[in-house]
Amino acid sequence: QAKRLNRGRATLFTEDLSLAARDRIRLLTSLRSAFYAERLHLAFQPQVELETGRVVGAEALLRWTTKEGQVIPPERFIPLAEHSGLMIPIGEWVLRTACLQLKRLDDRKQSGFRMAVNVSQTQFREPDFISMLDRVLREYQVAPEQIELELTESIAIGHMESTAAKIAEIRRMGVSIALDDFGTGYSSLSVLKQLGIDRLKIDRAFVQEIGRPNDSGIADLVVALGRQLNLGTTAEGVETEEQRRCLMEHGCQDGQGYLFGRPLPSADFETWMADNG
Ligand code: C2E
Ligand code: MG
Ligand code: MG
Ligand code: MG
Repeated sequence: QAKRLNRGRATLFTEDLSLAARDRIRLLTSLRSAFYAERLHLAFQPQVELETGRVVGAEALLRWTTKEGQVIPPERFIPLAEHSGLMIPIGEWVLRTACLQLKRLDDRKQSGFRMAVNVSQTQFREPDFISMLDRVLREYQVAPEQIELELTESIAIGHMESTAAKIAEIRRMGVSIALDDFGTGYSSLSVLKQLGIDRLKIDRAFVQEIGRPNDSGIADLVVALGRQLNLGTTAEGVETEEQRRCLMEHGCQDGQGYLFGRPLPSADFETWMADNG
């Protein structure tokens, strides 16, 4: 009796799995054709100095709307692209498109303006990541100082030395490095020091606690840590004036979030820059 029940369960489980697997394959196939048909695009979200509101840069964010008009969130398709290796060509395309956007912005606005580009783990681990980066920057004549790569803490797991060495080489080129979603992963303080980065991005989960009864104070801690280690700090997901003021008073430099501007398609972002930049 028990055996039969178990077998029933096992069958059900396998069916569930294969259904999920089929779904993923279908989505991946669709993503691959969307990418090669140039149907992916980037949205740009401004980053501002908290104290003055001055625009210091923007983050490039990948967007996918299917032919049927369905918006697939990056959290859903990026892991798929990562596992299949498709994130490597997509990542290069993101960097190229971000560089093109930099060139399209008014020259006047470009001085000191930084474009932040997310880099996934498989992409960063690619042996020729650095030569690709160098090649693209030359091709578009973008100054390395105008590019900041956003990496997550997980990038260093099990590859501490090679990661630190790669980061050092990238920074020698003049490109800066930010640690994205900081506080959600599990880097120790010593890892943070060894990696030799330029900036911490405080995850929006901690920013959104500010002013709430359950505030864990992690945002403040990360700001203090950034100051202690001489790193730039950017708060993600700033939505309220109270959050902005609190972060600023604690010494956080920059912020990004709906309070300042939502991620916008290229043309809308250019208009936004003309009005606010
Ligand atoms: P992220 O790098 O931490 O990007 C910030 C996310 O927060 C974006 O979500 C952005 O739209 C959202 N956001 C910004 N301001 C606010 C706010 O005030 N409130 C709230 N609630 N959310 C806000 P998005 O665009 O859905 O991207 C999700 C994640 O996907 C990104 O998180 C990043 O990890 C990844 N991603 C996006 N584009 C790329 C890419 O080109 N390459 C790689 N490797 N990853 C990417
Ligand atoms: Mg990011
Ligand atoms: Mg982030
Ligand atoms: Mg985040």
